[in-house]
Amino acid sequence: PHPTSARRPYSIAVQSENTSYSDEYITSKFTHRGAEVVVQDGQYLVKPTAKPFEFQTNRKVSKTGLLMIGLGGNNGSTLCAAVLANRHNIVWHTKEGVQQPNYIGSMLRASTVRLGADPVTGKDVHVPVSDVLPMVHPNDLVLGGWDISGLPLDQAMKRAQVLNYDLQRQVAPFMAELGKPLPSIYYPDFIAANQEARADNLIPGTDKQAHLEHIRADIRKFKKDNDLDRVVVFWTANTERYSDIIPGVNDTADNLLAAIKSSHSEVSPSTLFAVAAILEGEPFVNGAPQNTFVPGVVELAEREKSFIGGDDLKTGQTKLKSVFAEFLVNAGIKPLSIASYNHLGNNDGHNLSAERQFKSKEISKSSVVDDMVAANALLYKPGKAGAAKGTKEAKGEHPDHVIVIKYIPAVGDSKRAIDEYYSEIFCGGRSTINIFNECEDSLLATPLILDLTILTELLTRVKYRDASASDEFKPLYSVLSLLSYMLKAPLVKPGTDVVNSLNRQRNALEAFLKACIGLEGSSDLLLETRIW
Ligand code: NAD
Repeated sequence: PHPTSARRPYSIAVQSENTSYSDEYITSKFTHRGAEVVVQDGQYLVKPTAKPFEFQTNRKVSKTGLLMIGLGGNNGSTLCAAVLANRHNIVWHTKEGVQQPNYIGSMLRASTVRLGADPVTGKDVHVPVSDVLPMVHPNDLVLGGWDISGLPLDQAMKRAQVLNYDLQRQVAPFMAELGKPLPSIYYPDFIAANQEARADNLIPGTDKQAHLEHIRADIRKFKKDNDLDRVVVFWTANTERYSDIIPGVNDTADNLLAAIKSSHSEVSPSTLFAVAAILEGEPFVNGAPQNTFVPGVVELAEREKSFIGGDDLKTGQTKLKSVFAEFLVNAGIKPLSIASYNHLGNNDGHNLSAERQFKSKEISKSSVVDDMVAANALLYKPGKAGAAKGTKEAKGEHPDHVIVIKYIPAVGDSKRAIDEYYSEIFCGGRSTINIFNECEDSLLATPLILDLTILTELLTRVKYRDASASDEFKPLYSVLSLLSYMLKAPLVKPGTDVVNSLNRQRNALEAFLKACIGLEGSSDLLLETRIW
């Protein structure tokens, strides 16, 4: 561990028969409460349910590496520089004064949860989210990764044009120590043609099985060289086009492995990286929108009991949309259309200016209001089961939702997003709300990559068991949908509903972390403040 990572000893002690501590584990009892609802003759028959669980969290935080695919890009280089600035406590001068490094924007390190209230004053007591369970400190992450561009990291940071010059100047020697990214897999068909000029750091050949083995060996070597317990493999490389789902090719785990052996053209680089991580037993997170997780990957992760999470970092526009659209619909207001424009001038924008890569982003940005609309049949007529497939009647009512992305080099990493929410209000009235959002994209993305990595490592240490049976403790399900808060198009267990609402996603995460220390119940009920 680095001496500067201001770490505190684990500082919460839950005093209850539901929570026990040993040197190795925190074990908690938790009752999962829900309700079964059956609609019969127009009536909702509701049966409350309560299922007892136990959680067991290993208290020993893994020595964790973060291997990024796309290390030399804006996100990758910004993340490395920011972690190094924090680790070495580099302060820098801006025209406003002296700037300290920090982790603002990290839900884990810069936001808090309410634990309860002080019994004497009645005042709320909040703690940093990162204190609820033992978690890796971002300063302690061992950094590395691959890029098809071989520019050393100090120069990659310069190319990105994200960070202030005085910070770049001071952090450059540390960045130079990271050297150049590992050579990567480049299949030109998957990313925009305009990226070709960067591709000078490639694993040779076209044999996909050999590529898979090369990446697996890279993961193993990084783990061994740095004496790590855990490596999170993270796609923050260019957005790829969608892969076609082809029966016999990528629809099952075995078909996918065979397709890799025969170097089938529809296996993307990101899918190969995911398969490599899964086979190495290390978690893989996809920070971009493409369908890396074809059905064969999900099945392979299940089979290998490996962890996967994705897709696409939820940074600016979509994050706000997942709050704003829910606010409107939950207020009983009916959005009729949402028109979203973006322009940006970084390399991500350049890549997204190609049609097929834009398509991946469009899909990931579009689905974000679906569950809110589906939850409110008062405002939006649901689809009719008997209606002809593909028709409006079958799909049900939905706001018009359009996404536009344009590449404007001059604005660089500073993305602009404009959203118009046009809604129906009381008795035929109309409301138009426009939101203009401007932010350095990579400074929004970096804390999310850190949060996703740290949460993923934590979730590999949490086991559960059904306390009503005498089951053994087992790991969580392979698809880590608890990561949804940071993701635009959350991957969930096949057959289960996607939750897009940012508030619901945060509540789920908070409830889960609390459950692991034996705390339950909605802290927002505050019943004591509502009764005599
Ligand atoms: P970037 O273009 O600056 O960086 C991507 C890097 O990936 C480049 O250095 C490129 O050379 C490299 N690369 C491409 N194909 C590769 C491969 N096969 N193997 C290894 N490296 C490869 O982009 P960025 O701004 O850092 O964004 C990275 C990704 O994150 C993009 O897909 C973007 O859509 C996604 N994303 C970013 C944000 C954000 O706010 N910054 C939000 C959501 C999603």
